[in-house]
Amino acid sequence: MRNYGIDIFSDNNFIIEKDKVVVKHKSQPSIFSITEKIRASGIRGPLILRFPHIIKKQIDSLFINFHESIKEYEYKGDFRAVFPLKVNQYPNVLKSILESSKEYNYGLEAGSKAELILAMNLTPVGSPITVNGFKDEEMINLGFIAAQMGHNITITIEGINELESIINIANQSTLKVPNIGIRVRLHSGGTGVWAKSGGMESKFGLTSTELLEAIKLLKENSLIDSFKMIHFHIGSQMSHIKILKKALREAGNIYAELKMLGSVGLDSINIGGGLAIEYAQHTSKITTTYDINEFSNSVIFTLMEIMDKKDVKHPHIYTESGRYVVAAHGVLVAPVIELFSADYQEKSLIKKESNPPIIDELYILNSTLKMDNALEFMHDSIDHLESILTLFDLGYLDLQDRSNGEILVHQIIKKALLILKDEKNPELERLQERLQEKYLINSSIFQSMPDFWGLKQHFPVMPITKLDTKPIRSAALWDITCDSDGEIEFDPSTPLYLHDVDLDNEEYFLAFFNVGAYQETLGMKHNLFTHPTECSVIISDDGFKLENINESSSILDILSDLGYDKNQILRNLKSKLSHSDFVTEEEKSDTIQQLEIFLYQNGYLRTTY
Ligand SMILES: *Cc1c(COP(=O)(O)O)cnc(C)c1O
Repeated sequence: MRNYGIDIFSDNNFIIEKDKVVVKHKSQPSIFSITEKIRASGIRGPLILRFPHIIKKQIDSLFINFHESIKEYEYKGDFRAVFPLKVNQYPNVLKSILESSKEYNYGLEAGSKAELILAMNLTPVGSPITVNGFKDEEMINLGFIAAQMGHNITITIEGINELESIINIANQSTLKVPNIGIRVRLHSGGTGVWAKSGGMESKFGLTSTELLEAIKLLKENSLIDSFKMIHFHIGSQMSHIKILKKALREAGNIYAELKMLGSVGLDSINIGGGLAIEYAQHTSKITTTYDINEFSNSVIFTLMEIMDKKDVKHPHIYTESGRYVVAAHGVLVAPVIELFSADYQEKSLIKKESNPPIIDELYILNSTLKMDNALEFMHDSIDHLESILTLFDLGYLDLQDRSNGEILVHQIIKKALLILKDEKNPELERLQERLQEKYLINSSIFQSMPDFWGLKQHFPVMPITKLDTKPIRSAALWDITCDSDGEIEFDPSTPLYLHDVDLDNEEYFLAFFNVGAYQETLGMKHNLFTHPTECSVIISDDGFKLENINESSSILDILSDLGYDKNQILRNLKSKLSHSDFVTEEEKSDTIQQLEIFLYQNGYLRTTY
């Protein structure tokens, strides 16, 4: 896995050129050069790089594929799409989405009151807005207000009670009535970690009995003309196309039945999201088994077949794909700030006049290690380390012996791995797995990859430099939260190898890919680490520029967000210092100034230069 599987997960958005990861677009800047440019202004900590051209690429691909499938099969309905806001509500993401989709009439999907207000604010009048999720009467009323503004809005009901609210409001007010959608409860479920949105046990949707009741109510209240859409969503990151086809057959037949029952306004099927992207770095872990072309062909063909058989006009098709549109645009760059074994340096050895035999032996192993004995010596030294710790526990070795022993063992391992770096040996690989070097990264897994924490979702990760040298350390990653869950370990069958770097003399960054969907607002402020510094990278033929740099919150703002009064904090801390005894007044004012600068910096570590 010399290329870290970049050809598997990056969809050709990123490639390796010489020793660096570069963005495969126009002037092809390296991620390292982008990182350096942001850090040149003094910003430290993790970065979220946004690539708007990737959002554009995904939106184009969605529309172009559906348009082609429609043409190929001579399908009679239109293709329409909305972006589900819950996948990423950040302003700079929406800005790119809206700018990239002008020609497509792309709209937004909202699942809460705040998202609905956002959708009403941002969606161009005429482009669709869909509203899903549980709603109260106020939220439904907001849908009427949106319709009154001229928005093409569809309120999708999740239960009969929501339909009753619509009927109440329609009877009481003279506001324009929004389009009505009905979420259908399919017996075909989804698969995978995110599959709770489909199936009979699903949280959402009307059963067939409720559907019949809804049609009756709509007719009785003269709202049947407003009933325009049926909707389903089988869950995110759908692994196999057959899951979708099954759901489409069920939903298609429901659509046809509802048409035949006199739903005169009904003209659309909303197939939700679920379009998957690839997160794997190893061929053995690949999960996506279809591409966008197969996806669009399957949707068009399946629906056409059902409608033609039942002699029903082809419906317009809506999708609400979110992950597919934004996951790849976001890259998290995390500085490595420490290698665990860096503490064990040869210069810290303090040899005694007389050492215990086991320590003496380690000295000999360390000084006589060479190619043909490296594996054996490494093996022996690991065994010796276990003995040393036992002897220490029993009181036979003192702290200096233990320190010397630990340093020597780490030195032997380091030297052996370097000497053996071109060897391919299963025994060496097994040893490596026991010896995962811990790389401490300046970021929080809870904040930036909550799906790893909660669902063990893997995000592809690799260094952004040194890719022309062979990485020799099998790695585990630690984040800077003081929580033992803030660790990413790698399965022996799919290890992550990183470089042995001397961080006193060089910088080393890891990039995590496909973090643009869900992670940002799902992220939590564990230990009060907040959203990383973000920035949009606009790449042209002769370079790149950085737009909308938003630095991670300052320490005072983090505390203020929790409800603390930041002025009071500042006053209190300053007054404590000014009432303490300093030798000189100058030192006092310098210290106060230092503290103030500190409080206005972001909350991540600043140890790398
Ligand atoms: C979450 C959600 C989506 C988006 O799903 P993706 O898998 O991200 O495409 C679409 N529609 C509904 C109703 C959702 O709840």
